[in-house]
Amino acid sequence: LLSLVILLDSKAQQTELEWISYPPNGWEEISGLDENYTPIRTYQVCQVMEPNQNNWLRTNWIEKGDAQRIFVELKFTLRDCNSLPGVVGTCKETFNLYYQETDSEVGRSLRENQYVKIDTIAADESFTQGDLGERKMKLNTELRIIGPLSRRGFYLAFQDVGACIALVSVKVYYKKCWSIIENLATFPDTVTGSEFSSLVEVEGMCVSDAEEEADNSPKMHCSAEGEWLVPIGKCICRAGFHQKGDACEPCGRGFYKSSSQDLQCSRCPAHSFNDREGSWRCDCEDGYYRALSDPPSVACTRPPSAPQNLVYNINQTTVSLEWSPPADTGGRNDVTYRVICRRCSWEPEECVPCGPNVGFSPAQSGLVDTYVTIVDLLAHANYTFEVEAVNGVSDLSRTQRLFAAVSIATGQAAPSQVSEVIKEKVQQRSVQLSWQEPQQPNGVITEYEIKYYEKDRIYSTVRSKSTSATVNNLKPSTAYVFQIRAFTEAGYGTYGPRVEITTKEENTATIVSSEQNPVIIIAVVAVAGTIILVFMVFGFIIGRRYALAVKFPGTKTYIDPETYEDPNRAVHQFAKELDASCIKIERVIGAGEFGEVCSGRLKLPGKRDVSVAIKTLKVGYTEKQRRDFLCEASIMGQFDHPNVVHLEGVVTRGKPVMIVIEYMENGSLDAFLRKHDGQFTVIQLVGMLRGIAAGMRYLSDMGYVHRDLAARNILVNSNLVCKVSDFGLSRVIDDDPEAVYTTTGGKIPVRWTAPEAIQYRKFTSASDVWSYGIVMWEVMSYGERPYWDMSNQDVIKAIEEGYRLPAPMDCPPGLHQLMLDCWQKDRAERPKFDQIVGILDKMIRNPNTLKTPVGTCTRPISPLLDQSTPDFTAFRSVGEWLEAIKMERYRDNFTAAGYSSLESVARMSIEDVMRLGITLVGHQKKIMSSIQTTRAQMLHLHGTGVQV
Ligand code: AMP
Repeated sequence: LLSLVILLDSKAQQTELEWISYPPNGWEEISGLDENYTPIRTYQVCQVMEPNQNNWLRTNWIEKGDAQRIFVELKFTLRDCNSLPGVVGTCKETFNLYYQETDSEVGRSLRENQYVKIDTIAADESFTQGDLGERKMKLNTELRIIGPLSRRGFYLAFQDVGACIALVSVKVYYKKCWSIIENLATFPDTVTGSEFSSLVEVEGMCVSDAEEEADNSPKMHCSAEGEWLVPIGKCICRAGFHQKGDACEPCGRGFYKSSSQDLQCSRCPAHSFNDREGSWRCDCEDGYYRALSDPPSVACTRPPSAPQNLVYNINQTTVSLEWSPPADTGGRNDVTYRVICRRCSWEPEECVPCGPNVGFSPAQSGLVDTYVTIVDLLAHANYTFEVEAVNGVSDLSRTQRLFAAVSIATGQAAPSQVSEVIKEKVQQRSVQLSWQEPQQPNGVITEYEIKYYEKDRIYSTVRSKSTSATVNNLKPSTAYVFQIRAFTEAGYGTYGPRVEITTKEENTATIVSSEQNPVIIIAVVAVAGTIILVFMVFGFIIGRRYALAVKFPGTKTYIDPETYEDPNRAVHQFAKELDASCIKIERVIGAGEFGEVCSGRLKLPGKRDVSVAIKTLKVGYTEKQRRDFLCEASIMGQFDHPNVVHLEGVVTRGKPVMIVIEYMENGSLDAFLRKHDGQFTVIQLVGMLRGIAAGMRYLSDMGYVHRDLAARNILVNSNLVCKVSDFGLSRVIDDDPEAVYTTTGGKIPVRWTAPEAIQYRKFTSASDVWSYGIVMWEVMSYGERPYWDMSNQDVIKAIEEGYRLPAPMDCPPGLHQLMLDCWQKDRAERPKFDQIVGILDKMIRNPNTLKTPVGTCTRPISPLLDQSTPDFTAFRSVGEWLEAIKMERYRDNFTAAGYSSLESVARMSIEDVMRLGITLVGHQKKIMSSIQTTRAQMLHLHGTGVQV
């Protein structure tokens, strides 16, 4: 009710309505009381004695606002002509409802030809005199819908042609989805679409301090009933704000939220704070810092304290330092160390940086370990070394550096370089060198070291006590590099310059290496390839054989006709070849993808002739088309079940090529339901679903996956028996007009298909169960299009986000729950067809479980719907049956007319009921609806077809 916007409510008005009535002696405005004794304004007319009445009543102008579809609800009483003596010929029991669209009020004159007729309105129940002569008022309620309207407003008009009517209330309204906030997005008031099945797509606006989630902008759909459906996408609170109900609130003081992706505000991490609300991060306390790479969620930190326990060791001009880590790492674990080296004069102490000649091992800065060796210091010099601990925030800090320091004096220095090297003799396998003593030996040279290596190779050394040496065991015609250094008590001096020397050539012949013979390689590859090929071919043949031969013990298994090399053999294996002379084509009933579909009769020798549907293959077909056409017969011919369309046979030897199928009088289920909108009882609908589930149980037991289960592919016969049809290989789906190309390749009827089948083509009986759930929804909504006019992309997205179709109008909750079970994301969680059949059988046996709970919106016109349906098939006699429906007063009428069994009652038509002498319309309806329910229960429980 909340979704209604009332434009006119005659009951709400206490003063005179002052509608225009013409002629003046026709409709009259009269004050009255409604059923609750509230004063109301009514219009009445009752010129039943005079012929040729034409009395008009027009409302005031009704401004329609932005509505397109307007609902008109009339409440009225209408007098039964039979109850009025002497009015035969002049008394009527209907009146007409009209409207006129205008952009403004048009004055008080009434021109009939400007009005568009909406409907002729008749009463459901006319009122009569009661047994004791008291008048029993029967209030009728009728609802009509007009639209789409395009002008600013309209008038309604009532034309009476001689009935006795009291118009008790006129209510005019339209439906609106009221503004709401969903997923932090505001959706404005939205007027419903102009068609019953259209959804209005509405973009949401993020509430303040929220932003759209990336690639997921919020949308909703306003249904024709004024309900919001299918929310997609969402908004999220921006940095510094968090969600509280339907709004974003700033993070409090001392809290922060660094990104919209975070759900909650977090307390400021250690050593940080903020004193504002709505912060995306916290500031560091004095002396604390955040490195550039630190996320806002980590604590603020400070530089480390100085390293501790610095000790040194000196060996002539080499110093090694060692220390322990600082007492305070500053709260970080990226501490490294750096060393600063300074050389100082003795007196006065003045220090300068050591310069590039000093070496640090492993390095001067970025030290992870707590030691370093410093080499090549000057001999007899004074040095200070400072060791500093640093971390990720040291460079940000302006506080004083903290370090540990030592001052050290070096000892004796190493000898200087050996510079002049002379080649004395170069041979094939040896080189003889000599050199000068270094210019500053700094002590007694005890030894020289000669290092030599081939270019880019590992080096070797030899030692010599004198200033010459011979290096042996070299390779002939090879370039070698030589370097020499001197050794004293103070250690080694630096190496002298590199000297390059090439040894002499050798004259022996070259030995050809034994490279692999290319011929042999080719031969080996060829043999290996052949073996692989043989295995592949062999495996393939075995695979195909296996596909043909596999069978499970006890069950019949579906065989894919594609596994037959010769498709003609497949057809004749599974389908009977019929003689064309047995078939009589009567008329064309539809168009199939390969040619016309006709109805006709099949008369087999020695058998009764039967109605059949005949699918023909159009002339000029290609061989492939013929194969695909007959493929359906090869599949259908393998099935034998009352809820699977039955194949009579094929004609392949004559022309045209034909497939002959049992005739299904009511055609495809979707069109059938749309045609009979609201006309079946819930039991009847469940009976249809039970049949489809039984057919699918059979197919899945056979190992056949349908892939295109949808109401349009179910056929209905004259007994309302539903049968699964439309068989083919996957490519047959390509011809389904609902199928569209998806990103995974191939065409898929998206609205009916399970997500795993859409995403990665995983088609199984479990994906058929999903489709079955959609069929349930189609059936319970009388052929409504699943997901209405949403786009396929939005359907995929909505399903991915967990949205599922809501219960159709009047759908018992138990059935909707079963649909939801079929739409479980995890396919292992979905029920099996076997279980579905069991659940539906239980519901049919206990119709109480199919009651829609009180308070749910019920379909306005549903004459066959009886809310408290017992299981009629449980009654043994017609008498018991009449008692159950409180109509036992007609027991004799039934007996007299010869209706002695429940079966005979189940076959009765409305005419039969009237013939019994039951004149009260209400009683006729009650009995008729019970008959229909009984018929449905018998049909689906015992499989006994009762001709309608
Ligand atoms: P199809 O090529 O199977 O989609 O059939 C095309 C149309 O022919 C269907 O939509 C049905 O309306 C009709 N039709 C197909 N088979 C039958 C049948 N066995 N009995 C009655 N009508 C059928």
